[in-house]
Amino acid sequence: MIDYAKRGNVNKLPAKVGVYLLRDKNNKTIYIGKSTNIKERVKTHLKNSRWSAVPSAANPLSTETKTIGYIITKNEPEALIKESELIKKHKPRYNIMLRDDKQYFYVGFIPQENKTRNKKLKKSPYLTITHQPKTYNHYQEADQHRAEKPVPYIGPFTDGGSIKIVLRYLRKIFPYYTKPHGNLPCQYCHIELCPGPNPNIEECKKNILQIKQILNGRKPRVITSLKKEMKKYSDNLEFEKADIFKRQILALENIFSHNFQMQMANDKSMPEIPIIKTKKFGFEKLGFGWSFGSLEAYDISNIQGKEPVASMVRFDNGKPNKKMYRKFRIRLPEKPDDFAMMREAIRRRLRHPEWPYPDLFLIDGGKGQLSAALSAISLNTGCKISNTRFAALAKQENELFIPGRKESIKLADMDAKLRNLLMYARDESHRFAVTYHRKLHRKKSML
Ligand SMILES: [Zn+2]
Repeated sequence: MIDYAKRGNVNKLPAKVGVYLLRDKNNKTIYIGKSTNIKERVKTHLKNSRWSAVPSAANPLSTETKTIGYIITKNEPEALIKESELIKKHKPRYNIMLRDDKQYFYVGFIPQENKTRNKKLKKSPYLTITHQPKTYNHYQEADQHRAEKPVPYIGPFTDGGSIKIVLRYLRKIFPYYTKPHGNLPCQYCHIELCPGPNPNIEECKKNILQIKQILNGRKPRVITSLKKEMKKYSDNLEFEKADIFKRQILALENIFSHNFQMQMANDKSMPEIPIIKTKKFGFEKLGFGWSFGSLEAYDISNIQGKEPVASMVRFDNGKPNKKMYRKFRIRLPEKPDDFAMMREAIRRRLRHPEWPYPDLFLIDGGKGQLSAALSAISLNTGCKISNTRFAALAKQENELFIPGRKESIKLADMDAKLRNLLMYARDESHRFAVTYHRKLHRKKSML
């Protein structure tokens, strides 16, 4: 809902993300914009006596605005979509005057013609972003007859960077084409962003429809229909299919959640699927994303403080990678304590950047061992590795310690897959350390 404030109360506007509407003395909306800080942006509009778009002219937004409407949104994607919807509805005159080809973006859904003789072969529309929608029935040239036709463009969006990012994320949930597709798989087919050369046409259409609905501000409707599908499959005990819909719902809710940080508009890289919150403590908290990723587990073995050995075992994609197992004989002056030995082990390992760093360093022990391991990072100047890649797990207490978190996490509260992987790695590092130590000890006794 839109709230209104008098111009004199501009300081009472919320300093929050959302959309604002500037209205003149006749309550006609003259300009609509979005900002991460409504108050500051509106103040800028009202303050500037010169108009940045037409520097020679006085700023009409400053001279004509009498009241200000605003809507707080949960996040930037929602503000982006709301702004587009309101510009379409109110057709504010200064938005139109400010409009030039570079300023507004439209999302187009271009049908792919079937040029083959096989009439059954249907192709899904592809999606583009354009400044000049060819068939879009723009409000400036409103035409009753054309308005009846389905509109293959959605917009205008004022922020090209943001709409591109939102679409990139949506593509991970609802794969679509961005150009006519040939008969062979393309680069996006391989990363599951593309429906492929011979897609299920019904599914493609559904994906496109869902994207259209989301961009038209009807995300709740999309969520409702996904939930229905999920229920249908789980009622039929087809849990794998139900899970696909569950993931779509979670991913979609995540894009439109408080946590979703808009990437910078100039970020050209393909962002990963956003982290999805699960009830149980899962892989994503440890930087694994959806997969098992890679981890190294460390254990120290010694007999009465003599000849200590540190073991390093490596797991890739959830499986031991024995070629990457390593051991370090710890030589430190005097009787080193557990912490000093762990610090030394990690320090030695970090000196080998040629062994690819894992997603997670799993240390045997508790808080003390964890901070000892972390202190090894600073001993390796030039080693740019984040604290968050470390965690400690003790043999007896089934608890995990991670940096920046006072309380430990009980293994019982973890996602089963993660729990099993961590226990497996911990036991494997212990086994590897002990067998090595026995061998070493035997050698010594034989001398
Ligand atoms: Zn493809």
